Amino acid sequence: MEKPIHINWVNTLFLIFLPILAIIGVIWLALNHAISGYTILFTVILLIMGGLSITAGYHRLFCHLTYKAHWSVRLVTLLFGAITFEGSVLDWCTDHRNHHLYVDTPKDPYDITPGFWHAHIYWLFTLDPSKRDYSNVDDLRKDPLVRFQHRFYIPIAIFMGFLLPMLIAWTWGDLWGGLIIAGALRISIAQHVTFCVNSVCHTFGNQPYTDKNTARDNWFTALLTMGEGYHNFHHQFAADYRNGIRFYQFDPTKWLIRGLSYVGLTTELKKVSQYQIIKSRLEMGQKRLGDATNNTIMQPLQDALMRALAQLNDIEKRYQAMTNSKLAKQARKQLKAAKSDAKQLLNTWFRVAKNHAFA
Ligand SMILES: [Zn+2]
Ligand SMILES: [Zn+2]
Repeated sequence: MEKPIHINWVNTLFLIFLPILAIIGVIWLALNHAISGYTILFTVILLIMGGLSITAGYHRLFCHLTYKAHWSVRLVTLLFGAITFEGSVLDWCTDHRNHHLYVDTPKDPYDITPGFWHAHIYWLFTLDPSKRDYSNVDDLRKDPLVRFQHRFYIPIAIFMGFLLPMLIAWTWGDLWGGLIIAGALRISIAQHVTFCVNSVCHTFGNQPYTDKNTARDNWFTALLTMGEGYHNFHHQFAADYRNGIRFYQFDPTKWLIRGLSYVGLTTELKKVSQYQIIKSRLEMGQKRLGDATNNTIMQPLQDALMRALAQLNDIEKRYQAMTNSKLAKQARKQLKAAKSDAKQLLNTWFRVAKNHAFA
């Protein structure tokens, strides 16, 4: 006999009716009042603050511990993360750590294998919070701010997500706009944007670093999610504070974390080694191009690339172990040169391999 499906009515009603009420409210506002430009600007600011609190705070700081942050940064991201109504940090992180550990299996809370909509929203309709045991977030409980947010999550979310926007918008005479646009509509947009990482980024896009799971790099989702769209990189290198590692990739979360490090508010920013990144790209290239890389033209190129990678690995390890700043400065130059050599060789490898594959 099949198990009866558990329906989480609070989630289901909230997720269905909030956007419907928001849209009806916006129509009512447009017909009976004016929609204030200030309220729209304020809503955009809240979307960005809520978004960055989820990405830099909930995700990269609390869940993956990719850097350390001053208590003020932790407090702000806990308060503004709550305005998106995505649960407390403990709720969010226990699910997300399980997502990484059990990706694409039934133990993954937002498993993509039952389908796009399961990963996007249906998992929340059927979520049974009493089944969460939180054993994988014990480390986070040590932080009193995290415990405080978890304990008072509902009042914090309602105050920060609805009441405060109403009060602030009231100062320019738009109490209803504060509730409907900066409150309800903004929350619905913020939620679906986050959900896209679980659905779109596990369905559409490229897999430059790994094909061992369904995660994909999707630049369009990165635009909406403060850089979280580079999800293939993220699943392969979750310990890295960056998701978009190339200079042209849109990752404002990374820029914020790095920016805060210049004023000492964030420290110990973790990066995976360049050697590992290039090696992953090479392995994926070899898999994709298969036999086209097994020939006399490719072999010398492949050997040169392997030598460059070994050298890069060696310099990187030495550099990380260095405490003498003078020596480190010199080594950084060497490291930069080794990185650029390996990258160039990798690009040549791809170009030549592709020519062979399609010749
Ligand atoms: Zn994922
Ligand atoms: Zn993650």
